[in-house]
Amino acid sequence: MPELPEVETIKRGLEKEIIGTRVVDVIFLWVKTLKDKSPKIATAQIIGKKIISIKRRAKIIIINLEDDLNLLFHMKMTGHLIIAPASTKIQDNGQWVSSQKELKDPFNQYIRLIIYLDNNKLVAFSDLRKFGYLKIVSNTELEKILSEYGPEPFSKDFNVNYLKKILSNKKIAIKKALLDQKTISGIGNIYADEILFASKINPLKTASKVSEKELNSIIQNTKKILRKSIELGGTSTSDFRNIKGDRGLYGNRLKVYKKNGRSCTICHSEIKRMVVGGRGTHFCPKCQELND
Ligand SMILES: [Zn+2]
Repeated sequence: MPELPEVETIKRGLEKEIIGTRVVDVIFLWVKTLKDKSPKIATAQIIGKKIISIKRRAKIIIINLEDDLNLLFHMKMTGHLIIAPASTKIQDNGQWVSSQKELKDPFNQYIRLIIYLDNNKLVAFSDLRKFGYLKIVSNTELEKILSEYGPEPFSKDFNVNYLKKILSNKKIAIKKALLDQKTISGIGNIYADEILFASKINPLKTASKVSEKELNSIIQNTKKILRKSIELGGTSTSDFRNIKGDRGLYGNRLKVYKKNGRSCTICHSEIKRMVVGGRGTHFCPKCQELND
């Protein structure tokens, strides 16, 4: 699932390509990708509208249009946005007709909708698992949706007092708490494992028992790891691709995620996998000894 660094990579890519352009046409290849509206109404609403800005909040991309309209893309499991020349053909089954190396990548062959722009480019939403979606919302509706999410890891609201307060009554595993988008937004399975390893905290440790020192460590490592991953264009261990259809490079820096059976880079013990809150969790039993 794309997490904060991957969605931020998409946002930064889009910013360079589509701000100031206007929507010329929209094609829905998989109608259910569009939520709460008929394609006919959606198309009438956005054709001709100018793109003002692009934002990211949690794992959501928001394309802000003129006249109080926003295209809210939730990437969910496997969603990503790709930019290509408007002349590039896409078949009804969502596959590109192109010899371009990136577009031939199997993970880019699940186009669910296409937005054509007046700069002779198209934005395509590829989503293998079909859990991703587009909602077209007003600024007020957008604000309401986004208010459900916890602070952004790079905001000043994400600090030790906040974490102490929100985790103080949580009897769940810290790993599960980090994945809760109401607690912190943008962290998923990959980065939760990496952050806890860097912070030397066992994923099963009860959230309310994590010390102030450990919380500070979580905050510092969250910022450090997410920043580095954004710099390297995110992690592409499976489906994630950037707006050119290409892979991110942070996968080479992962220390524990999907490294079970390999040696810990710090103590050389074997990295283990367990299930926490229904999610595969990777950790070093020695560096992250449970001291609940
Ligand atoms: Zn270790």
